[in-house]
Amino acid sequence: MASYDDNNIFAKILRGEIPCNKCDEDDFTLSFHDIAPQAPVHVLVIPKGRYVDYADFAANASAEEIVGFTAAIKRVAEKTGISESGYRIISNIGDDGHQEVPHLHMHVVGGAPTGRMLTKRS
Ligand code: 5GP
Repeated sequence: MASYDDNNIFAKILRGEIPCNKCDEDDFTLSFHDIAPQAPVHVLVIPKGRYVDYADFAANASAEEIVGFTAAIKRVAEKTGISESGYRIISNIGDDGHQEVPHLHMHVVGGAPTGRMLTKRS
């Protein structure tokens, strides 16, 4: 796994160097609306700690951070009004997962039917 890059875009958002449209924040997480939403609701939940991806987080985060991250996802769904209608959570990891930003983030998408989970392979 690549080491954490403090110049990634979400690290800059966490440091307040670039703005975000904030949805939720607590001691462990920041959640903000995706700049290029792929659904009526598309929020990114990120831990405040320096974790490259979910595998890094699972291996190295504290129990408090893991619980905090999990709780933030549920809270974001409630705050954005999609917890009743349903939604999808996605975390891309590495090259095959098509991860673009190397700071763990969970996509929370909903507000309309999300379609098939994956595009069918031809
Ligand atoms: P990934 O492919 O790494 O799972 O997803 C990265 C996500 O971050 C994409 O959905 C992209 O639109 C979003 N994103 C990239 N740069 C920014 C930014 O500066 N601000 C916000 N709010 N979202 C961003």
